[in-house]
Amino acid sequence: MSWCYSLSNDFCAPKTLFRGFDMASGPTRTSITASLASLSALLLLSVSLVATAGQVHIHGARIWNGPDHTRVVLDTAAPIRHRVFSLDDPHRLVVDITDARLSGDLPAAAVDDVLVSGLRSGVRQGDDLRVVLDLKQPVKAKSFQLKPNGTYGHRLVIDVSARSLPAQAQLASRAATSTASAPAGGVRDRDVIIAVDAGHGGEDPGAIGAGGTYEKHVTLAISRKLAARINRQQGMRAVLIRDGDYFISLRQRIAKARAQQADLFVSIHADAFKDRRVRGSSVYTLSNGGATSEAAKWLAERENRADLIGGVSLAEQNDVLAGVLLDMTQNATLEHSSIAAERVLSKLRALGDVHQTRIQKAGFAVLKSPDIPSMLVETAFISNPDEEKRLRSGNYQQKLADSLVQGIIDYFEDYPPPGTRFARDDTPSGDDLGAVLPGVHAPAVADHLARR
Ligand SMILES: [Zn+2]
Repeated sequence: MSWCYSLSNDFCAPKTLFRGFDMASGPTRTSITASLASLSALLLLSVSLVATAGQVHIHGARIWNGPDHTRVVLDTAAPIRHRVFSLDDPHRLVVDITDARLSGDLPAAAVDDVLVSGLRSGVRQGDDLRVVLDLKQPVKAKSFQLKPNGTYGHRLVIDVSARSLPAQAQLASRAATSTASAPAGGVRDRDVIIAVDAGHGGEDPGAIGAGGTYEKHVTLAISRKLAARINRQQGMRAVLIRDGDYFISLRQRIAKARAQQADLFVSIHADAFKDRRVRGSSVYTLSNGGATSEAAKWLAERENRADLIGGVSLAEQNDVLAGVLLDMTQNATLEHSSIAAERVLSKLRALGDVHQTRIQKAGFAVLKSPDIPSMLVETAFISNPDEEKRLRSGNYQQKLADSLVQGIIDYFEDYPPPGTRFARDDTPSGDDLGAVLPGVHAPAVADHLARR
């Protein structure tokens, strides 16, 4: 395809830039979603207060490819005014930015991106910038701006997702079908489902080691090994909450685990601390009140900033789960989280350094599922040079995965969810907590049975 974008304002005839629509008269057919319109109105309102002297410099662009969405991020030198609309035949999404110019290249879309085939840009009406996303299918789009944080400056985020059934819903129904299929002559035990959550991703790198290691890459590598290890175990199945380099908000992580009816949620991290000597792994559960230690508080604040860095749109603040999250009253879930975390910590202790010999508690947002026991494992400190080196080693990642899975098995052997293989091979559990478990898992089991 031949196209160009200009750094100054007045070369490249519009019609050679953009085939298929008329640059001068604008879109012939538009479809802007209601949420987008209201969002844009809000944004217009907020940026209209900002006086811009001259053109805003768009100095960087990234494209992140998730399983059910594609995110395009533009680095803007200041807040911008923009509008987004879609055009059909062929499908494309147009982002018009008022009084802006682009330097550098736009990134290429991934070959396996099911939504976006490419990005291009051009100058419009002398001073304005137009960025076009060429699409492979009709999409829903939303856009929002993010303020600077420790990692990036001002950004414009454009999220597109398929207009048809989201990939996540398809996955969930597939999972339900596969676990619900019973062999002839008997009822099959359902698998215990473990949600393995690789921390950070996409726009949010997590902590960065002195040697340049990104936490998001390490957490994904360990999570994939852990999931593979779980899937080799009879009666257990792993669901990877993130399986690639893309951003998922903390809330979406919880929602995905719940959609998959997970029995346990394990979030994998490798964080940094201000003191580089600090080392060893730790296991955290959610606290209702204060954090156990200064480090626990510090880490929870860092982890909870992920949404700020990665970028959560205003629209997401309203989702239904928000109300549920604020009201964490599920004591049984908290109790089981602690028990499972203890089992995992004892296996990590056998592997080597632990930072804290007892489980730590802090207000990690990602652990707030009301009905899924949840823990967050800080596998090691990426800020410690020795541990950073270890975290990069496939061999060490595997050892971590092996330890984690042993702890998880220990927990399910003592507290088997009803209807699973663990419940059938039963060695009696040590106390009455098993009786609490049906309460914890009742919604999942009820849904599961209802589907049969
Ligand atoms: Zn982290």
